[in-house]
Amino acid sequence: MRTFLAIACLIGLSAPAFAESAISPAQAKKQLEQGNQRYMTGKSIHARIDPVTRERTAQQGQKPVATILGCSDARVPPEIIFDQGFGELFVVRVAGNVCSTAELASVEYGVKYLKTPLVVVVGHTKCGAVQAAVAGGELKGSLPKLVGMITPAVDETKTKFPKKTGDDLLNAAIEANVRKSIKDMLANSPGLEQAIKNKQVEIVGAIRDIEHGGVKWLAP
Ligand SMILES: [Zn+2]
Repeated sequence: MRTFLAIACLIGLSAPAFAESAISPAQAKKQLEQGNQRYMTGKSIHARIDPVTRERTAQQGQKPVATILGCSDARVPPEIIFDQGFGELFVVRVAGNVCSTAELASVEYGVKYLKTPLVVVVGHTKCGAVQAAVAGGELKGSLPKLVGMITPAVDETKTKFPKKTGDDLLNAAIEANVRKSIKDMLANSPGLEQAIKNKQVEIVGAIRDIEHGGVKWLAP
């Protein structure tokens, strides 16, 4: 019985709908913008995790300010590019920052149980997963399934911008892929959509430039 209750609580059977966060979506976004500015200018304050913070978060739990869906690319770790400390970001990383069931469930967990007021889908320049979808070559193993989730964004980009080629095409596809992940997220999570309507949560897209380190926030 105890096990059942624990599972029921975890999957939300006895939990309330998406709860209010202590800070607003705008305050959370400001915190990330300021962190990225510190990172870009070599003034990061969270370069290392100190033992005191590790102990505090272990004892008191995590209180992340944002849920991040980002790419697995080794050059884009969210905690570093947004200069946030231990326990401050709830991060979901998958190649090409796609949003299938496991990623969506993780995002819902971040919003519903950890009460992050902001969800950021972060793409990045020179993304290999999007590049694979643009190139359209043969892939092995499970990769066709993953890249197949990105292909609609590439097709849409090619239709919208028939003259774009090379980096121009790739960059436009990277942005379209971020927007597609947001769209997939909302289409498959009525609870998340409702939380946005209630202004409890905001979802924004962003592109991280891997050369200069800056983050471009996408307009809704
Ligand atoms: Zn990538």
